[in-house]
Amino acid sequence: MTKKFLFTNGEVITVNSKNEIVNAVAVEDNRIAAVGSTDEILKWKDGNSTVIDLDGRTILPGFIESHLHITLYGTNELSVSCKDESVQTISDLLEKLKEKAKDTLKGEWIRAWGFNDQKIEDGRFPTKEELDSVSDEHPIIVVRACNHISAVNSYALQLASIDKNTPDPEGGKIVRRDNGEPSGLLLENAHMQMFQIAGFTREEIRQAHSIASEHFVQKGITSIHDATGYGISNVEALKEDTENDVIKQRVYAMIGALNDPESVVKHFLDCDVKTNDGNDRFKYGPVKLFLDGSSSGPTVWTREPYDSDPTNYGIHYHQQEEIEKLFIPAHQKGWQITSHAQGDAAIDMLLTCIEKANKLYPREDARHRIEHAGIAQKDLIERMVNEGVIPTPNPAFFFEYGDGYIKNYGDRAKQMYPLNCYIQAGVPAAIASDCPVTDFNPLRGIHSAITRISPTGAVVGEKERIGLLDAIRMITWNGAYASFSENETGSIEVGKRADLIILDRSILNAKTDEIPSIKVVCTMIDGEVVYEEKHENEAVKM
Ligand SMILES: [Zn+2]
Repeated sequence: MTKKFLFTNGEVITVNSKNEIVNAVAVEDNRIAAVGSTDEILKWKDGNSTVIDLDGRTILPGFIESHLHITLYGTNELSVSCKDESVQTISDLLEKLKEKAKDTLKGEWIRAWGFNDQKIEDGRFPTKEELDSVSDEHPIIVVRACNHISAVNSYALQLASIDKNTPDPEGGKIVRRDNGEPSGLLLENAHMQMFQIAGFTREEIRQAHSIASEHFVQKGITSIHDATGYGISNVEALKEDTENDVIKQRVYAMIGALNDPESVVKHFLDCDVKTNDGNDRFKYGPVKLFLDGSSSGPTVWTREPYDSDPTNYGIHYHQQEEIEKLFIPAHQKGWQITSHAQGDAAIDMLLTCIEKANKLYPREDARHRIEHAGIAQKDLIERMVNEGVIPTPNPAFFFEYGDGYIKNYGDRAKQMYPLNCYIQAGVPAAIASDCPVTDFNPLRGIHSAITRISPTGAVVGEKERIGLLDAIRMITWNGAYASFSENETGSIEVGKRADLIILDRSILNAKTDEIPSIKVVCTMIDGEVVYEEKHENEAVKM
């Protein structure tokens, strides 16, 4: 028996090619059956129909988050949060860790995430000795918000066999005191290796996916592009948990890892799969490396030195030849290529590789990507256009890190995540939160794309502000396009999958400052209601 939902008297933002806004939409089973006026849609009514009067509220295509780390977000939820209001000082953090130690078995990890040395009152990381004072019977790791730096205790250093004689790993640094002893602070690859050692069990990963997926549907996210986590087994867990409905969203899984992505990429290049293989729930995404550091660290790799330090050009992980050796054969085999590239020097490196791949082995519609593409100078955008490259910028970062960008990158901050330039150049940029780096609420991202406001209220690059409908397109249709799914999702058009969300009001009539607090009251994936806000006077009854 077919099941019908008729949504009437609403504000249906279709995100079709003409950006049409209509009043009503009909869903039949898992597909959109009709889009039009309320009168037209009511003609579909029969004994199997549920009619929902939207009373002016907005319906949007489900949000497509083009770059976040679901496993990482979920495992953070199982750990101590440094972003919690109650953590203002290092001593607050130590208290929280002590509490966690009470119900953690001896020898098991105590993990904290989201630490920000610039925001904590002490203005520094906890020392090894401070963490030892929490417990010498548990390994402890405190991870910085950017996930490129961590502070650990002596137990953790012992587990990783790090002492004064251990050399720095390539692309990483074990911070040392004058006597050569590790201080407990680990940077970049040294952090990544420790992060791998502090790994989670399969059952913890399943719990993490379940929690994260639930949080994401509450904010209207119906598809995610996972930007990698803990390696090969993580990709397998994502596939399994999506197929078993532990994860409700459609998943487009990038291939790589936070630690040693190269070996994960190599593994999958030898398997009999490629980008876009899979089904409507789970698909393999692009192969992904890290080319440079984090925008807030600040450790991005730049062509000109930082404004805050004329000797600093940031950190980079690879030589040009290395990435070409890996990515050009991947391109030949049908993989989409991408990398974390934040600084202009890193973007330049990836574009050079893509240009070579496309020239040597021309391929229809390869849709190579650049994750973040932070300092995207005009010459780099031109090259993106020429190669049909899709960037995944993070406007929500301005809301958290905008002031640091101005301090470290000076005028270049205005050209970061240049959404207006992308629109003018016809580049289908797909905006993303990089959660857990920042808030995954897509309405927060949309607000930041429109305002580009920093925590202190500075506007970072006024010319790059964009309009509401353009921002919505960047987190719906463009995300579908970046994952070869634009014929199935990303807009409200007849024949597409019924991935829809209902907001608690009209977004077109809302004041800009209201946008982040607008609520999603209902989320539908493939014609099934996967989330419904519960309150006393059920506004949307299904
Ligand atoms: Zn990321």
